[in-house]
Amino acid sequence: MQSVTKLRLYASPEDREKLFATMERYNAACTFVSPVAFSEKQFSNIGLQKQMYSTVRERFGLSAQMAQLAIRKVAGSYRSTREAIKAKNKILKALGEPLQVLSEISFREHGAVCYDARVLSLGKNRANIWTLDGRIKLRYSRPDYFPPVAAVKQTDLVYRDGAFWLYATVESPDSEIPEPAEYLGVDLGVVTIATTSDGIAYSGAATEKVRKRYGNLRAALQQKGTKDAKEKLRKISGRERRFKTDVNHVISKQIVRAAEGTKRGVALEDLTGILQRTTVTKQYRERHHKWAFHQLRTFIAYKARKAGVLVKVIDGAYTSQQCSVCGYTDSGNRPDQATFVCLQCRHAGNADLNAAKNIAARALVNEPIAVCSLPGERLNRKPVKSMKPIKAPCPRF
Ligand SMILES: [Zn+2]
Repeated sequence: MQSVTKLRLYASPEDREKLFATMERYNAACTFVSPVAFSEKQFSNIGLQKQMYSTVRERFGLSAQMAQLAIRKVAGSYRSTREAIKAKNKILKALGEPLQVLSEISFREHGAVCYDARVLSLGKNRANIWTLDGRIKLRYSRPDYFPPVAAVKQTDLVYRDGAFWLYATVESPDSEIPEPAEYLGVDLGVVTIATTSDGIAYSGAATEKVRKRYGNLRAALQQKGTKDAKEKLRKISGRERRFKTDVNHVISKQIVRAAEGTKRGVALEDLTGILQRTTVTKQYRERHHKWAFHQLRTFIAYKARKAGVLVKVIDGAYTSQQCSVCGYTDSGNRPDQATFVCLQCRHAGNADLNAAKNIAARALVNEPIAVCSLPGERLNRKPVKSMKPIKAPCPRF
């Protein structure tokens, strides 16, 4: 089965301009082709290419591939609209209502650009995208569950809610896992590695101790800087990783088992929520934590798949500031790191548990990943301070 995964693109103001310019030109080409396709009822891609290709290339300065893709979008849009109207008319006919007719399609200035592999390729962390101004490489957010790049059939560039996204169509073999009625929410942290919405906390005390011990040793060796010291450094970092890996194996196993035993799915937050919360200053520490978080999430995903447990990744923005009882969101709900006290309904409790409950609840809504921002990046819209109870659809920022 095919499914669409939304990948957030991170573009500098300069690159955003390039994407906008390309998007506008591409859709202008679609708008140019559309009346011809409509008036001549030419909805076959090959037929329309024959008729319009050279004009589109000349007029819009698109590459050969991009000109073809614009024409293909027009032909495809007409065919799918015609199919939709046909299906709708069957019902209207049965009801004795007036039937719908196909009309000329107009294309929005910032409508999707339907790329293919020749003009957009996905790397491990970066997407290589054709623009009018040459190719650009942009970082994108990649969920742990994202399959190998080879499984991507098509990628559309979409502008939505002030940000650029890639909608990647992928073949997903895991679709046989049915949607569970409930989720076990997992909140990831530094002091407490993981807290579940059942209230079980996996302490990071042991790993922190190891990290600190090696940390001091590391600093001393780094200062030394000799060849021997460098070799020791390498060994230490290997040992530390192996220890953390063992801990992550144990935690992920227990989490998946808890979900499996109660026929629930596992809900995790995407990295934005975690990065919003953890203020790590030292470079090594940050890198180490990111690696550890990523590994734990990967282990959970892997073990869950083997156990037939569905894993959903939700938008982690403000999970720690939102009240799991009434939905009120405010940074003031957190008097300190460990405590949650709702300013609105006075609900009080452990902050990680409150976040885990929010994560579990967000997984139950249809669209798990909403727009959210990384620190230091600004979106057009400001986050809302107060939100409706979390039974409502996932909040967008
Ligand atoms: Zn509340």
